[in-house]
This record gives sequence, structure tokens and C-alpha cells, in this order.
Amino acid sequence: MADLPPLREVIARHGLSASKALGQNFLFDEQLLDRIAAIPGDLSGKQVLEVGPGPGGLTRALLRAGARVTAIEMDRRCLPALAELGEAFPGQLRVIEGDALKIDHAALMGGEPFAVLSNLPYNVGTALFVRWLGGEEWPPLWTSLTLMFQQEVAQRIVAQAGGSAYGRLAVLAQWRAEAKMAMKVHRSAFTPPPKVMSAIVHVVPGTMPEGVSARVLERLTEAAFGQRRKMLRQSLKGVSGAVEALETIGIDPQRRAETLSVAEFVELARALTN
Ligand code: SAM
Repeated sequence: MADLPPLREVIARHGLSASKALGQNFLFDEQLLDRIAAIPGDLSGKQVLEVGPGPGGLTRALLRAGARVTAIEMDRRCLPALAELGEAFPGQLRVIEGDALKIDHAALMGGEPFAVLSNLPYNVGTALFVRWLGGEEWPPLWTSLTLMFQQEVAQRIVAQAGGSAYGRLAVLAQWRAEAKMAMKVHRSAFTPPPKVMSAIVHVVPGTMPEGVSARVLERLTEAAFGQRRKMLRQSLKGVSGAVEALETIGIDPQRRAETLSVAEFVELARALTN
């Protein structure tokens, strides 16, 4: 493995000032990056999809861990720095220039299983998260998701029923996968520092409950949490058969969405799946 120049030097040499429009907050602390790369377990020889490598801090850590990395980056200013990194780790890094929201990840990874690691801007991260966790096909091709979010979003993903953080993201993340808070990251770890604290969420696929359509469950959570202050008998009016199904399976229609456990949402979706 070649000796690499410090990241700050790479950034200065390639003129990679952080772009606010692209949500760029870079990580330079190699020890922290190695700890992040270790979250999914041993990556040696494994396929990894990294979204938004930027100047390549996390990418280096993944390559050091022996992963075969495919990295999607839409800021072409970063490509020369990433190309240098590819030369230092021959055959381990493939860089794709583009918008990760517009790319078919399973096809890009050649239909082989892969771990996902990413430090993305908030809006893009949430959109990809919803996409990775949605759909009827399960288990997915990804073996784990290790994603940096604003801490408040990370808390929503791992939230339990009963609190204000609990909502669509929690149900989506937990009904057929396990989601846990893996690490909190202080804002001062980033350059430039963002306004809020960050946290890394780690998700692994679990078993899909039988007889439940993902589409039905998604529609239910959308309606229920779209009007989270209302009783279910009101918020679920627009979902055909849902209010009757509540009665059949013994869920009080006067309850509100945030009091329903993930298991209860699954039960309700099962009653509506035909
Ligand atoms: N991974 C680097 C790090 O941790 O230092 C950079 C993180 S920075 C928060 C986010 C990166 O994602 C930026 O390099 C940005 O250009 C890239 N990015 C933003 N939106 C993207 C998208 N839709 N597809 C691919 N990359 C994107």
C-alpha cells in the first residue's frame, strides 16, 4: 500500500474548497474514518458502494480495510484526487461520476452483494435511505447500510413507538431490518463544521414478515403519520378497508399513529394485503 499525502494537502492541491450547494462537509481524521469503516465488520475482499466520496477520506479507510470500492460522486472537481487514490490501491477502486439518485445501484454492482457506506448531504441521504429500504424485493442485494445523518434524523430512524421522534422513517427502517445508532460524530470533526451534530446509523436486513406488501405498509405509514395528531380512524380514512381492519385485529381506532408499534403496523398491513 502506497504512502498517501495528507488529505488536507490533496484538497489544497486540487482546489477542493467545500461547496455548500453540494452539502460538502469533509472528514479528515484518519482514526475516526478507520472506526467508521470498521462498523460493518471485516470488509476485506468485499464489495462496497460509497456514495459521495468527495476528496476520498472515507474511501481511503475503506481501501485500507481491503474493500473493493465503487464510489459515486457528482462533483467532478473531486475526480482527479480520487483517480490518484485509485492508483495507490490498484484494482480496488472504481469511480463513477454521477448523481446517486439517478443510478441503478444493483445493476452498477453487477448483481453481487455489497455493503453501503456513505457520508451524504441530509436530503440526498434520506431519499436514498427510503429507496434502499423500500420495494417488494427482500432481502435486498445490500448486506448493510452505514450512513451518516444529522443526529436528529438518526434518532428518528432508531426511534421506538410512543415518542415524537417515532414516525415513517422508524417503521420503514425497522419492520424488516435492524437499525441501530452506531456512533455519534461531533460537528467539529467536519470541515467546515455543520450547524448540528451528526450520527451514524447501521442497518442490516432482517426477515420480511410473511403476507405483507411493502407498498401497503408504506401507504399506511404515509397516511397515519401524515396526520400524526389525529386519531387513526380519521387519518386512515383514505386507505380503503384500514379503519375496519383496525377493529378486526383489535387496535383501538382512537389511538394515534405514534402509539402503534412496528409490529402493530405490520399486522395492520397484513390484514390489508391481498
Ligand atoms: N465522503 C466525504 C467525507 O466524508 O469527507 C465527503 C462527504 S460530503 C458530506 C458529501 C459528498 O457527497 C460531496 O462530495 C458531494 O459532492 C457528494 N454528493 C452530493 N450529492 C450527491 C449525489 N446526489 N450523488 C453523488 N454524490 C453526491
